[in-house]
Amino acid sequence: MRNKRLNDTVSKVKVYAEKMARMSDAQLQAETPKLKSLLKSGKTLEQILPEAYAAICEADKRILGKYPYDNQIFGAIAMHHGHLVEMNTGEGKTLTATMPLYLNALTEKSTILVTANEYLAYRDAAEMRPVFAFMGMNERAGVSRQPDGFLTNDQKRENYNADILYTTHGVLAFDYLLNNLVMRAEDRFLRKFYFIIIDEADSVLLDGAQMPLVISGSPRVQSNLYAMTDFFVSTLKADRDYETEDKAVWLTDQGVAYAERFFGIQDFYAHENFELNRHVTLALRAHVLLKRQEDYMVSDQGEIVLLDNGTGRSLPGMKLRGGEHQALEQKEHLELTQEQRSIASITYQNLFIMFPKMCGMSGTISNARRELRSVYHKKVVVVPPHKKLQRIDRKDRYFVSAEEQYEAALEETLHCHQKGQPVLIVTATIQDTQIFSRMLVDKGVPHSVLNADNAYWEAEIIAAAGMRNAVTVSTGMAGRGTDIKLEKGVAQLGGLAVIGIGRMENVRLERQARGRAGRQGDPGSSQFFVSLEDDIVMTMYAEKAEEYIDGNRSISHRKLKHIINNAQKTMEEQGISSREQAVRYDEILRRQREILYNARDRLLDQAQIDKGTMQDIVNDTLQSFVKTHPKLQSHDLNRYVLDNLSYELDPDILAMEKDSKQLLERMEKYAAKLYDRKVNSFENAEQLQEYIRQCILNALDDGWVEEVDYLQQLQYAITTRGTAQRNPIFEYSREAYHSFEDMKTTMKRNITRNFFLGDPEMNEDGQMKIVFP
Ligand code: ADP
Ligand code: MG
Repeated sequence: MRNKRLNDTVSKVKVYAEKMARMSDAQLQAETPKLKSLLKSGKTLEQILPEAYAAICEADKRILGKYPYDNQIFGAIAMHHGHLVEMNTGEGKTLTATMPLYLNALTEKSTILVTANEYLAYRDAAEMRPVFAFMGMNERAGVSRQPDGFLTNDQKRENYNADILYTTHGVLAFDYLLNNLVMRAEDRFLRKFYFIIIDEADSVLLDGAQMPLVISGSPRVQSNLYAMTDFFVSTLKADRDYETEDKAVWLTDQGVAYAERFFGIQDFYAHENFELNRHVTLALRAHVLLKRQEDYMVSDQGEIVLLDNGTGRSLPGMKLRGGEHQALEQKEHLELTQEQRSIASITYQNLFIMFPKMCGMSGTISNARRELRSVYHKKVVVVPPHKKLQRIDRKDRYFVSAEEQYEAALEETLHCHQKGQPVLIVTATIQDTQIFSRMLVDKGVPHSVLNADNAYWEAEIIAAAGMRNAVTVSTGMAGRGTDIKLEKGVAQLGGLAVIGIGRMENVRLERQARGRAGRQGDPGSSQFFVSLEDDIVMTMYAEKAEEYIDGNRSISHRKLKHIINNAQKTMEEQGISSREQAVRYDEILRRQREILYNARDRLLDQAQIDKGTMQDIVNDTLQSFVKTHPKLQSHDLNRYVLDNLSYELDPDILAMEKDSKQLLERMEKYAAKLYDRKVNSFENAEQLQEYIRQCILNALDDGWVEEVDYLQQLQYAITTRGTAQRNPIFEYSREAYHSFEDMKTTMKRNITRNFFLGDPEMNEDGQMKIVFP
């Protein structure tokens, strides 16, 4: 039904297409202002879609020499309707995106495309820019040509103000957080979110979404618990003292009892042992979950370098958060780096949910239908290929040992290579590329290996994988988004042969690998060679698998298949559940974040704070002070006044009262007097308002940074509690609620102190600078 409606719209586009084809360039270019004025006169995007799509299609043809095929128009319409479209690799998703981008940019609201890495964002932006420019639209890349290039807020503002922006999900998420850390209204650079297309949507929405994105800031006081807990953990025994599951690890009851004896404490889970508990968790994770050469390596300079296990790419400069990096350094006996506090964080799920209109595209997304529907409420629409798929997907070959598996894969490689047919070997892990590369060297086969470093030259190598005689060894996700064209004559040899080694973490990754061959109706083939020694099988069923690998037991083909394929299924389910967890944890943080960011925005937008509000804040603060100090001595009171209200003591006013109610009244009166005195020190009401706003902003940010950091740490501490019949999410949300309430109290106290003790100064350009106490 739905597809029929999409197809009807394709027909409508085609009706306009003929008219557009007859137009002069100038007439075609005049479509942009015309369509904009149609929108302004009340037409909907839906109504102008056929004409707008036909216009940009014609521009695609005139400028790039490519007229979008019907299936691309179909996919483009589905995207405008907010769907996630699956279009095979090489079907031309970049060109497809020009249609919804152009249409939505006509609203003059923010129109963004994000993709999996900076190389792709830059490349696609550059390639499509002439088309948009021809149609009078300003299009930009939100990333710089050099990796790690730095952009100023002004440059960022220009980017985000462009009609159309190509960027990466990482840059966008960081910018969102940074935009909410600026101190002045004019430093903000984001526009209100409106429309977004997510290219390589499965990679961005699923593979990249397991961990929240975190901005780290001011250093935290370094704890000395790392060494102690590292030693403690090194004495533990698996299964007896701790258990693992789902990339989580926790102490068993026996382990907890041992920890209590080891550290000489009563209750490992007591509030006062939070830090110890947290460090034990960090050390456990470092020892049990993080594997050298898979998750990280140690550089020659003695630094931890993280690895992206999907691509094998090293992630220089990236650090694990929440102290995990230091725990890892301790495990490797390196010098500990300074631990940074998390100051802002968000998951991609919650970032994208903020867009009123979101859609996406990918070569492999239909397998994740259910998850995408439940997390994003999105439907997947599969677009049939332009030309019939010719690729031959051969049956998987199953082996008991890795040795047989690699030998067979090598034999198949040599078989294809002897004919001159290009072969792309795709492995599940980085180490596997190295092993296979060595085997090729032994046979004297020249080849390229793609397993680390940067997307720029990765793309070059992989683009050449379709040349005659080419042999390329790569990890699963490396070179994603790069088109592999076949050299002339290669089609006659059977096209590109993809040889997969190892069962991958999920079906999407395998389909992505197969999709390298057979683009746009090319011939090609694919086959996977899998064994019990594959990483995921060993992770899931090590004991079971080892018996067979050692030859102690024989195994039927059926059983072999079952074990290997089940490992993948389980792995996939774990991925889903850990993403669900991340979303649920961040959901709690999201509500708090929204409250804070809204408050910040109102302050930056010159909100007026009336006297009543300020007095309520001050009085709440005084009240909570009196309440929390039942046995108040007069020197406590003096101390409090000096620290919070006034640098001068007024002995008359502050004589002690026996009765706390009377004391409070007295303090309130005193504060009211100080309040008036402060107010009178300003030249005018506007200056006073500016002063109050900055006092609040400062307190808000301080409190919020603490909160984000605390919640981040809490997540680590709490996941270990999973065993003892505790529900981690429930506990987390309860703790988060309390800490949010505490944060509010602290903020009020800091606002009060800032207000009374802050020292404002006007600098030359008329801006207020405040020295806070
Ligand atoms: P995808 O992102 O779907 O894998 P790309 O956008 O990288 O595919 O496009 C693959 C190749 O197909 C590119 O070389 C592109 O120029 C070409 N292409 C896409 N659409 C068309 C079209 N309508 N006509 C001709 N060539 C096209
Ligand atoms: Mg692409």
